[in-house]
Amino acid sequence: MRGAGDAILVAIRLSGSSVGPPLYPSALIDDGDGGWREVLRLDALVAVEDDEVHIFRTEQAPTEELQGRTFRFQQWWTPHAFYVAADTDRSWENVRSPDPQNHVHCVLDQTTIEAGEGDGTAWRSGNDWVCSSCYQRYIVEDRLGIRETPPTTP
Ligand SMILES: [Zn+2]
Repeated sequence: MRGAGDAILVAIRLSGSSVGPPLYPSALIDDGDGGWREVLRLDALVAVEDDEVHIFRTEQAPTEELQGRTFRFQQWWTPHAFYVAADTDRSWENVRSPDPQNHVHCVLDQTTIEAGEGDGTAWRSGNDWVCSSCYQRYIVEDRLGIRETPPTTP
């Protein structure tokens, strides 16, 4: 593990299971006796060395010693979610959240989007809905570094 500005780079050997893209965002999970626990959030894949060792970037400093330990690798996004966040050709519209009986889910974090939640608005592109916090984090700020150009926000 080594520092690079604000980001921390961590080398992880992915083995024993078949994982497909997208490999981030993801997390290391400890499946303990009391249920699962997120040990470290992984924000981006930076490099792959010798097929198995993956270098990830994280903004979250680990709170415990991780060296040499084994964790479950949890992918958070479907290929569609990654495509939605990375696609800079999309136009996004800030719209009023639907009534609860017609609620939708954020394609990025599955948050329920409905009137009465948050500021009452969300972002929509075609059939894909994104909640305001995901829109800020992944579309505007591009925290994963997967968009080449930021959107023009009205
Ligand atoms: Zn969301």
